[in-house]
Amino acid sequence: MGSCPRRPGLDTLAAYDEEGQPVTTRITHWIAGRSWSGTAERQGEVYDPATGTVTGRVDFAGPEVVDEAVGAALAAFQDWRNTSVARRTTVLFAFRELLNARREELAAIIVSEHGKVHSDALGEIARGLEVVEYACGIPHLLKGGFTEQASTGIDVYSLRQPLGVVGVISPFNFPAMVPMWFFPIAIAAGNAVVVKPSEKDPSAANFLAGLWREAGLPDGVFNVVHGDKAAVDRLLEHPDVKAVSFVGSTPIARYVYETGTRHGKRVQALGGAKNHMLVLPDADLDLAADAAVNAGFGAAGERCMAVSVLVAVDPVGDALVERIKTRMAALTVGPGSAPASEMGPLVTGAHRDKVTAYLDSGVTDGADLTVDGRKHPVTGEGTVGGFWLGPTLFDRVRPGMSVYDDEIFGPVLSVVRVGSYDEGLVLINGNPYGNGTAVFTNDGGAARRFQHEVEVGMVGINVPIPVPVAYYSFGGWKSSLFGDAHAYGEDGVRFFTRGKAVTQRWLDPSHGGINLGFPTNQ
Ligand code: NAD
Repeated sequence: MGSCPRRPGLDTLAAYDEEGQPVTTRITHWIAGRSWSGTAERQGEVYDPATGTVTGRVDFAGPEVVDEAVGAALAAFQDWRNTSVARRTTVLFAFRELLNARREELAAIIVSEHGKVHSDALGEIARGLEVVEYACGIPHLLKGGFTEQASTGIDVYSLRQPLGVVGVISPFNFPAMVPMWFFPIAIAAGNAVVVKPSEKDPSAANFLAGLWREAGLPDGVFNVVHGDKAAVDRLLEHPDVKAVSFVGSTPIARYVYETGTRHGKRVQALGGAKNHMLVLPDADLDLAADAAVNAGFGAAGERCMAVSVLVAVDPVGDALVERIKTRMAALTVGPGSAPASEMGPLVTGAHRDKVTAYLDSGVTDGADLTVDGRKHPVTGEGTVGGFWLGPTLFDRVRPGMSVYDDEIFGPVLSVVRVGSYDEGLVLINGNPYGNGTAVFTNDGGAARRFQHEVEVGMVGINVPIPVPVAYYSFGGWKSSLFGDAHAYGEDGVRFFTRGKAVTQRWLDPSHGGINLGFPTNQ
């Protein structure tokens, strides 16, 4: 094979030989500041979705490896929680600088294992960076309250303290951003973290681990275990794991919430979605069509905030569908690493096949297959074995059809036609998911009514993907989130800390005497 050039960054990344053929690399756990040196009993395959080739094998952790990571985190926790807020903040700032400086490398890793286009990978890093920057403000975020002379001679104040070891379990679709919704705040607040990334694109987490080390984070404060259900289950059961942040599909989110809370943990579990975009008759249809295509097909629809249902209020349906079709035909589908590509492949062959099956079931259920993604050309060299599916549009979709009822999580947009705003609202509020939604209109009164009446956690007004900035919090309602804490923002700080209220009196002789009564204000 000769020399084996690797992408810069980590030794766990896919490498290519002199003929440009992928060399399968091993991707392993990161525990106590170094790569795990054991031998895994089980491994999973990691693909380059644009070519369909196996580029890596990721070690799967059994319970004993999870125990090792939790043990390392627990050992690091005491010193880290006692490290001054000033020092912790310095490490956060250093991490922020490194992440910003090396974002191109991280984006290349994401593209190579997830398949999304490079600009989109940079976008997810930028949104993760936002949370890191928010966490750099931890001195301010951890400030408690203080009431002097709450009772005579008595002051009362509050503290927020870290929980200990916390687990972060993340999905494949944002291998960098979703973990970064949680761990910057958790670490800044003084916790130690064990991340269990998706086994489909595990290398981004290892890259981030390397950056933490370079930033000066003590070994053991940030650990990564790779794997599947076995690793997740051990994290959920482990007595030293105090909290779990999970993001993934609704059935697993529900399972994680129920199992984790049953084991006495604090759990936030963000689940799946079916996001509706309501287009009112007065909307600018060109802008609405742009937004629907961007939010429906960006990242090949593999976003929890993707628009998957377009609700067209009469009479805009025909005009909107025509505009969307025109835009879809012009989309360039190709490898994420090619600058011209606007949409990449799906993450695995199995997922591509699952999404493709909906094209048939939609037709069987009676929807109009207006644009068939199987016919869309793929632009690029060496893509024959890739996990491709072009953008698909279904029209005249109704509840009860599988393309409406299920979260497809691919480049499939469904148009539901309704007669009025009220009919559209009833449809959206009747959906079991409540992650994101958007209304497109020029009528401020209608938009204001929508924001008030819609039962969804994140609402866009002429904004199709309303992911809140880092100083608000991210989270859906209903089957899109289990638990009562949203991700990042103030909810994130509350989730990763516990409150303590202190009532203090500095004694002097006048405080003596016996009084068996319950303390009351004096
Ligand atoms: P997934 O539920 O299959 O996997 C998520 C995580 O759970 C992974 O780390 C995986 O290894 C683990 N896991 C899988 N099966 C498990 C099991 N049986 N027991 C325990 N753990 C298990 O999700 P995915 O396919 O990786 O990601 C896509 C899903 O994530 C979509 O449903 C999407 O809507 C959702 N998502 C939601 C949000 C949000 O903010 N609400 C954000 C991103 C993605």
